Amino acid sequence: MEDQSGMDAHLANQLRTLFAKMVNDIDIVLFTDPNGNDPYCDAARQAIRMFRQLTDRIQVREFDLTHEKAVEWEITESPTIVIQPDHYNLRWIGAPVGEEGRIFLETILLIGTGESNLSEQSKKVMAKVDDPRRVKIFVSPSCPYCPQEAINGVKAAVERPDTVSLEIIDIQCKPVIADQYNAHSVPQAFANDLLIGQGAQSEEVFCASLAGLEPQTVFIPDVEADEIETDVVIVGGGPAGLTAAIYLERSGLKTALVEKEALGGQVATTPVVENYTGFTSVGGKTLVDIMVTHAMEYAQIFKGEEVLEISGSDPFIVKTSRRTFTARRVLLATGATHRHLGVPGEERLSGKGVTYCATCDGPLFRGRKVIMAGGGNSAVTEALYLKNMGVDVSIVHRRDTLRAQSHLCKQLEENGVPVIWNTEVQEILGDRRVNRVVLKNNKTGEAQTVDIDGVFIAIGYKPATQLARLAGIDLTDEGYIAKQEHHRTNVPGIYAAGDVEGGYKQIVTAVGQGAEAAMSIFEDMINPYWQREQTVKLEAVSA
Ligand code: NAP
Repeated sequence: MEDQSGMDAHLANQLRTLFAKMVNDIDIVLFTDPNGNDPYCDAARQAIRMFRQLTDRIQVREFDLTHEKAVEWEITESPTIVIQPDHYNLRWIGAPVGEEGRIFLETILLIGTGESNLSEQSKKVMAKVDDPRRVKIFVSPSCPYCPQEAINGVKAAVERPDTVSLEIIDIQCKPVIADQYNAHSVPQAFANDLLIGQGAQSEEVFCASLAGLEPQTVFIPDVEADEIETDVVIVGGGPAGLTAAIYLERSGLKTALVEKEALGGQVATTPVVENYTGFTSVGGKTLVDIMVTHAMEYAQIFKGEEVLEISGSDPFIVKTSRRTFTARRVLLATGATHRHLGVPGEERLSGKGVTYCATCDGPLFRGRKVIMAGGGNSAVTEALYLKNMGVDVSIVHRRDTLRAQSHLCKQLEENGVPVIWNTEVQEILGDRRVNRVVLKNNKTGEAQTVDIDGVFIAIGYKPATQLARLAGIDLTDEGYIAKQEHHRTNVPGIYAAGDVEGGYKQIVTAVGQGAEAAMSIFEDMINPYWQREQTVKLEAVSA
């Protein structure tokens, strides 16, 4: 049922409750081009109006780009949304729709409550920044990683209004600005015109990158970080971790789920899921939202926080970029990360035409010519997604048969997506951005250079086991966690579930593994198997 704001009535009520907590009025000024008939301006108006209908705290004014305020504030782009100009230097260039709507909502809530919500660790980093930081974060409406990176920027701007100015820029609406920064994937963050982050960073890593004006990869918190005691820490917020969280809390175990990037893992970037029971066809992000909302009913979820180290044993000490957890059990549901081709040009041109996320970056390639490397379900699903949005895509596959399910192969044929068979990407070329690719036929040995605007890569995933290795967990020869029965590992008290364990990498199997691991943890908490085994051995000796 729809509310008067046009959104689902239940959601609208939840938002009204959140907005009721705001203590500040919010002044929003929208600048639009009087001569343009720009759909982005309409979308921006509509988005603001929708939020305006949910709270009286928002005041909106609209001016055109010739208005004295536009001149005074040096606003030249239409649409530009300026938020709370008396207190902050915070602008939105484009329209906050799709995933960007989430960023806009959280921005309003932060400003409405007057709190940056930065962690104590991040606040300490930001307190030391004494020169101006002009931050620009490129986002897109379809990118599930973007809200995290953009919110990092909003929090920093709210925390240090004296030092940090922020522009959130919709890369689809403003491709010319993106081109100036050579940003061809999202999210990308710049400060004082220097790249400080590509992809979603944890909040602390973002703040450290902002302070240091260069991308950081890790943030080690100081010794006074918060401590939280819990029964179980789940590392990873994909389908396995989210399901385990529901099962663990329902069995009475206090559970904290920590996720460094976007919740939902790979599913969040899967354009369409057609084989998850109960849903004939569902967007990956929609499915994730349903799972996350369900898991949040039970467990505490710590998003944008990275687990750095696991030590000890019952209790385990789980150190993150923000705090320390003590936990009786740990479940590793760290999933898998994109496999890279490993060819010349791939790393250098990543984010500059080379991309691993069709959902995030596909819209930037509308009307352009790209290749999709790979032959599995991901490559085919994503190629179909690109084709349907008007991208001129061809699949490049190293064999003469696709690995993808026949249902998907049929759709590929029906949609006229060409497949270049028995061919491998040998090199990706381009100076500032991708403009050519060298393709080699592995049957004939013949190589050809093809003009191209983008290279999408979907050649499978490799298990994310860095943390497991640090914790002394045994791995298989293929690099997966060597699982023992009931999702146990060689370290008593540490369990594994989902893609990090290998096996069939399907959402439905990850969900099943998460549930099984949770039940196994619960049973071992009541009656630890390692103590059970000792008792049996002692009984055998005394007999
Ligand atoms: P995948 O099934 O492992 O397929 C990887 C593809 O990339 C294969 O075709 C492989 O070629 C090719 N490849 C691997 N390394 C390569 C290299 N170095 N150079 C060129 N090509 C290379 O991976 P995926 O498609 O990402 O799927 C992962 C899992 O997610 C699968 O279990 C899949 O079923 C699931 N998934 C399901 C759906 C769905 O059901 N709708 C959608 C997406 C993903 P070869 O065929 O020659 O090995």
